[in-house]
Amino acid sequence: MNGKDPTWDFANVLFAGPCNRFCPFCIGKEIPGRVNQENLDLFPLRNQDEFVNRIRDLVIPEVVFTGTTTDPQLYKHEEQLLLLLKEQLSGGESPVRFSVHTNGVLALQKIRVFNQYNRACISFPSFSPDIYEKMMGSRRVPDLAAIVRESEIPVKVSCIVNEHNFRDTDRFLDLAADAGIKRIVFRKLFGEARNFPILEDRAVESYYRENPVYRINGLEVTVWDFDRSTSKSINLFPDGTIGSSYLLARTPEFTRV
Ligand code: SF4
Repeated sequence: MNGKDPTWDFANVLFAGPCNRFCPFCIGKEIPGRVNQENLDLFPLRNQDEFVNRIRDLVIPEVVFTGTTTDPQLYKHEEQLLLLLKEQLSGGESPVRFSVHTNGVLALQKIRVFNQYNRACISFPSFSPDIYEKMMGSRRVPDLAAIVRESEIPVKVSCIVNEHNFRDTDRFLDLAADAGIKRIVFRKLFGEARNFPILEDRAVESYYRENPVYRINGLEVTVWDFDRSTSKSINLFPDGTIGSSYLLARTPEFTRV
């Protein structure tokens, strides 16, 4: 991890603690429990300074607030940390972008902070309360249209595809377009061996890192296969571990602790 490498894509800041959703497939279950030390009240975060140094050294262009077991907007010092990192990482050769990967539950309530990121990605598996409940453990579906209306930044939707929602894709795309969404990523769950066919009758417009990209009703739709993806990230885990694998569950640093 030493030296400049222009191929680094992201630096993820990972939060752990109680979540406001209860997804059966939560990524936090895939990584060692000792790593998920709660940090929702902590400022600065464990190993934060070293993480910032690595971002500078590796010239990483984007910092992402996200979580292992919780939503990043539940972090008590979200705005304070965001402003500090913006200040610390300004003045480099090229500007660093900041984004939030959230379930969107608190987006409207915290819209002022939400709009201080450069862009947002909302995990959103369905507009149907029945399907949403099966996938996120609650019937309360965030109001995506209202979030897009109040947002001053680009909002992308990330949709996990599994047995509960893969047959609902066409309706999902219609409702997302109505809500004002412009970009959607359909994701396979990490390690998912089953195939849930979607968009098979649609023409692929292009490929992004081996993943097919479609243009449907004005939406840019990518079908992202985690296991084939070639992104590179460093990750500040809640316990202070700095990992170097985009696939969190395959972080080599876990075995060196
Ligand atoms: S919203 Fe994210 S962090 Fe919360 S339970 Fe679901 S997958 Fe886990």
